[in-house]
Amino acid sequence: MNTLDFINLRNKRVILNDNELEIGSLRLNLSDELNFGEPIGNVAVKDLAEAANYYNSLTSKTCWTQLAALTFIVTGKHQALDWYFPITNMLNDAELSDFYRFIQEIIQHPNLDLKLKAENKTDATAQMHADIPFIVGGHLAEIFFYRRDILARLLNTPRHIWLYTTPKAFEQDGGLAGGDYNHETESIQLVLSRLYEGFYGSTPGVAPFLHEFGHMLDFFNSGSGKMGDSEGLLPGLSPSDGKIYTPRARKLFVEGKRIELERYLKRFNNTYSENDPLPIGHPYVFQNDTEFCAGYFEMFFRNPNYFASQNPVLYQGYTELLGQDQRYAWKKDFDFYVMENRNFYLNSGQKPWEPHLTIPTI
Ligand SMILES: [Zn+2]
Repeated sequence: MNTLDFINLRNKRVILNDNELEIGSLRLNLSDELNFGEPIGNVAVKDLAEAANYYNSLTSKTCWTQLAALTFIVTGKHQALDWYFPITNMLNDAELSDFYRFIQEIIQHPNLDLKLKAENKTDATAQMHADIPFIVGGHLAEIFFYRRDILARLLNTPRHIWLYTTPKAFEQDGGLAGGDYNHETESIQLVLSRLYEGFYGSTPGVAPFLHEFGHMLDFFNSGSGKMGDSEGLLPGLSPSDGKIYTPRARKLFVEGKRIELERYLKRFNNTYSENDPLPIGHPYVFQNDTEFCAGYFEMFFRNPNYFASQNPVLYQGYTELLGQDQRYAWKKDFDFYVMENRNFYLNSGQKPWEPHLTIPTI
């Protein structure tokens, strides 16, 4: 029996070779038993291998997941998936139990249309392992833990989240740019491997699901309860949103967005002075309102400390809207976006792209 520290291993990629299982730099014999301590307990290496192999064949070797996901499949212990949800860092035991319950509620919601599609548009939903709905449901639970009224509004009618076993399956079903919100089918489309790609590092990282879901939220018209056109606003930020409307959040969001645009325009027009603050986002998110909406939404959940220090007004717009402050979940930000974005303005020598943002009236 090998006693191993699950917390230090849960982000490691697990690869099955002929007769051994690689977990990061560890090489384990298929007959080994592992003890991950409480609350996960004992796990047989051959069971992990079987789960890893399952993904391997389902995705034509395009998706080697983390130990966290495989351990959940094998043990059914919710805590194994905490790694995917930074909010768990700031919840006490009672709140955590509530969080897991909320995830179950979301997964079982009749209007959550979560599908897995294989090549030639085959429906492979029945072949989904339990971790997939749990990770998707967990992202939604993390976003709406303190605003269940907004999620209830969103799930009043079916919401389509479609995952694909391989990049080919994704393209065959009209998927674009590695992941998208498809206006025509009103669905999020994402290759399955992208659900895991941001979780191999020392902190949770790039989050294409959160980004594409930010687009879906933008295209959702809370007043009518239907998918509509982009207004660059999350549900709860429009006066027409009815009971979920959060006027203070709108005021802060609009002011904060104006501040970002002004900072960006100074860079774009080359009229900045040396000490002027940089925009938080990359030029990519200034190209239109929906990219701004999705990009800043994702950054709220990944680099909240930098976000709040650069533009406290806009950051507070998100805390007012979502009823939570992600800084309590992050001792240290995932700083990849921070560095990339700063680097563009400070060191790339490239001219920022022409912006096309609108600022709503308060
Ligand atoms: Zn986008």
